[in-house]
Amino acid sequence: MTDVKSMTKAELAAYLGGMGEKPFRAKQLYEWLQVHRIRSYEEATNLPAALRKRLSEEAPLTVLAPLAVQRSRIDNTAKTLFALPDGEAIESVAMHYRFGLSVCVSSQAGCDRGCIFCASGIGGLSRNLTASEMLEQVYAVSAQEGEAVKRVVVMGSGEPFLNYENLHRFLTILTDKEGFGLGTRHVTVSTCGIVPRILDFARDFPQAGLAVSLHAPTQEKRERIMPRAAGDYGLKELIGAARTVTEQTGRKITFEYALIGGLNDGEEDARALAALLKGMLCVVNLIPVNPVTERRLREPNKTDVREFKKNLETSGINVTIRREMGRDIDGACGQLRHRNSRGERTC
Ligand code: SF4
Repeated sequence: MTDVKSMTKAELAAYLGGMGEKPFRAKQLYEWLQVHRIRSYEEATNLPAALRKRLSEEAPLTVLAPLAVQRSRIDNTAKTLFALPDGEAIESVAMHYRFGLSVCVSSQAGCDRGCIFCASGIGGLSRNLTASEMLEQVYAVSAQEGEAVKRVVVMGSGEPFLNYENLHRFLTILTDKEGFGLGTRHVTVSTCGIVPRILDFARDFPQAGLAVSLHAPTQEKRERIMPRAAGDYGLKELIGAARTVTEQTGRKITFEYALIGGLNDGEEDARALAALLKGMLCVVNLIPVNPVTERRLREPNKTDVREFKKNLETSGINVTIRREMGRDIDGACGQLRHRNSRGERTC
């Protein structure tokens, strides 16, 4: 089946041209898809009925159906589990900040990286998401929340840089002024450290934010916490790429650091981390872990988190502690999908 919602303007023009349609039809259809975000071709009223019928048969629209929604009573964060047409399920999260709505998007159904603090990797990787499935998460969450999207973060299930072609397409349409029109600076992509794609991304989207999941200050500890990611690309290589990116783009990199009680939250860890990042244009975002039942991880205590932050700041490193959104719902990525796959109640 043809997936028109994943097509750039040029691809759509070529596709409709192949059907014998005039070039202006491509502009019309692109607007219906990415600006008006139609859910049925019947809504595209300025397209001829015969074309609408043909498209319905040859290129059914990607539309996500919500399976379950969990909403925080504390801060209105909403986690939605969407069903995909092939029976897979993915999570997206709506976060309400003072600046407006931020949507966290998944890039794969499941994940093969196996980071020990993350529920997304528990069942392994099912498949890559298409660009239209990523766009639809943004559109569906915006419609569900009744609000314009101000920010998109690709930090849900999956490793986006292992699905780079579809990610590239998604971001191209999302940030196209004639498409969804989100400013590139309002997009952040998070990776566990796929070095070649980090460099590609900095070249392709130099204005976009990059977050690197670091989680340990040494190669040995990183291998324990995120075995696949650390095994594929060593810490030295990763930090080298990060330095190159900051020099090329002049933009700060965010290093995500999940604090796990008794594993990577000690004074020596903070000191090693400060040495590793010395002099780099960066900020460290500390994330006290949400316990994932199956992995028996300990939450760090509040004093250790404060001390860790202080130790980094003393060494001149910028630090934030991630504001906990939706603490009263399944907070960590992949937990809702994982519970659903076990047949547990999700809302
Ligand atoms: S943290 Fe990211 S890369 Fe690691 S298992 Fe979870 S989704 Fe995959």
